[in-house]
Amino acid sequence: MDYLKNFTIPFEGLGVGNHKFTFVVDDLFFEKIEYSEIKKGDVNVALLFEKQDNMFVLHFQIDGNIQVKCDRCSEDFYFPIKGDQKLFIQFGDTFREETDEIIIIPRNDFEIDLAPYIYEYIILMLPIQRLHFNEPNGKSQCNQAMLDKINQLSLREQQSDPRWDTLKKLKTK
Ligand SMILES: [Zn+2]
Repeated sequence: MDYLKNFTIPFEGLGVGNHKFTFVVDDLFFEKIEYSEIKKGDVNVALLFEKQDNMFVLHFQIDGNIQVKCDRCSEDFYFPIKGDQKLFIQFGDTFREETDEIIIIPRNDFEIDLAPYIYEYIILMLPIQRLHFNEPNGKSQCNQAMLDKINQLSLREQQSDPRWDTLKKLKTK
């Protein structure tokens, strides 16, 4: 069976009312998502699927850790994410996204693939700037050896920058 099929809800067979689902998002999930910017993670997703007569309301609770690259020392580390998301599903002639929270799906659809939504929610929960946290004593958890290497490299780049040579020549005149 296609792994991502685990994230498809065959809603046709559900009675009106509340239904609970849980999903485990792991490394394989991100491997299967095309062009995923995330490679590793471990996230639990609890879904309350509320089936009403004419629409569905989905409440997601997302909680876990995602591997990201630190913007300061470029070492990978796990960033904790936690949050809620809501998705309203209504019916229409063709598929369209009405807003971030409301989608319209064709009337004759009988299942919905939630993998793209779960992926998007996880991405939204990550900050734009991803930095190691500080320890309680204020010390950064960044990889100091990596930072030293990065500093050395940027120093070397500055030294070999032809603009600096021109400046040096100007100074010696
Ligand atoms: Zn770092």
